[in-house]
Amino acid sequence: MALIVQKYGGTSVGSVERIKNVAQRVLATRQGGHDVVVVVSAMAGETNRLVSLAQQIAEMPDERERDVLLASGEQASTALLALAIKDLGQPARSFLGHQIRIETDSAYGKARIKSIDSSRILQVLKDGEIVVVAGFQGVDEADNITTLGRGGSDTSAVAVAAALNASVCEIYTDVDGVYTTDPGICPGARKLSRISYEEMIEMASLGAKVLQIRSVELAMKFNVPVHVRSSFTDTEGTWLVEEDQSMDSLLVSAVTCDRDEAKITLVKVPDRPGLAAQVFTPIAEANIVVDMIIQNASADGTTDLTFTVPKADYKKAISLVEKTAPAIQAEGIRVDPKISKVSIVGVGMRTHAGVAAKMFEVLAREGINIEMISTSEIKISVVINEKYTELAVRVLHEALIERQGNL
Ligand code: ADP
Ligand code: ASP
Ligand code: MG
Repeated sequence: MALIVQKYGGTSVGSVERIKNVAQRVLATRQGGHDVVVVVSAMAGETNRLVSLAQQIAEMPDERERDVLLASGEQASTALLALAIKDLGQPARSFLGHQIRIETDSAYGKARIKSIDSSRILQVLKDGEIVVVAGFQGVDEADNITTLGRGGSDTSAVAVAAALNASVCEIYTDVDGVYTTDPGICPGARKLSRISYEEMIEMASLGAKVLQIRSVELAMKFNVPVHVRSSFTDTEGTWLVEEDQSMDSLLVSAVTCDRDEAKITLVKVPDRPGLAAQVFTPIAEANIVVDMIIQNASADGTTDLTFTVPKADYKKAISLVEKTAPAIQAEGIRVDPKISKVSIVGVGMRTHAGVAAKMFEVLAREGINIEMISTSEIKISVVINEKYTELAVRVLHEALIERQGNL
């Protein structure tokens, strides 16, 4: 008898019918003789609806109250699933984050889990009940409700699995695994039967929404076996595994895109030591994660400083930059939220030259202008105009994955 954690995403619990379908699946696992803990997302579209309600009240809503509001989406779906399981005759009990003490730090909207009190869950399992836990939410030391960032139920599930030392954490979603690129964008996308934690972390951080990045980091740290699969079929999905020799080391294993960043440029910043620190310190203190940064030296002793931040934080970032700009005598600020970041990922790039050149050539052939570039050992990212996102993903996938032999 194993302990299995199952996480069901928004689409999988998107209607009463689907919640009933999930209840059936949970019950089948239980009848297979296993203990089951289910982690649930809000019904599809609900978190977006709540985000928009808060924004209609205030352009930059108070973060504490916003989290109280957003957490309500998971409260509803958790109760509905527990009801559906009970209706099938199986005892079940729902829990919100604070009831099982999913303790987080106090970074509203992107809190990190610090600890989970597994004793309550274990007791309820021992009583023969199925435990249904609200994803995406926790509570800080002072009992304020917090949320873990969009897609955070994945992280709740992996954290619960780690705390309970579960045999597996199954992530049920609307695709049947992790693909070489978003199958919704590219018909040629291929399902991967296994992917290393490292590559999945890169993919998740570069916009492959199928798993929240923090969930993969936790899975790797605590060695949680994760199986990403569909809630609509019984097909074997994708396993997250340690990198080993037996894996196909594809040169490029995935193409990702991320539309959730915005670009801010400080125009004509005097070229003096210390100014970058003046710009980025207040942004870091506001807990905003800056992704790409480029600075071009120009002949007249000034430089344009361009960087990207998550769209969710960009209004806050602009208000901070507006304060810094006059202090450092920058000429002005330009903002562009209509960008996207398209990336290629692959451990094979560590040892292979020429991939970047090929990537740029493929984009140039389509007339797609590259606005920013960043690279690491196993990825290359470019920022482009948002309207070319899908085209860029498709042509890169075709040239670098479907026709890999041609490199
Ligand atoms: P859930 O609501 O179940 O958490 P998400 O919408 O967060 O589901 O994640 C699943 C979606 O991730 C898929 O519908 C797919 O469009 C998208 N996606 C992006 N990149 C990939 C990828 N490489 N492999 C699989 N799905 C991907
Ligand atoms: N409901 C939250 C969101 O939409 C969390 C999740 O679905 O994982 O981001
Ligand atoms: Mg998700």
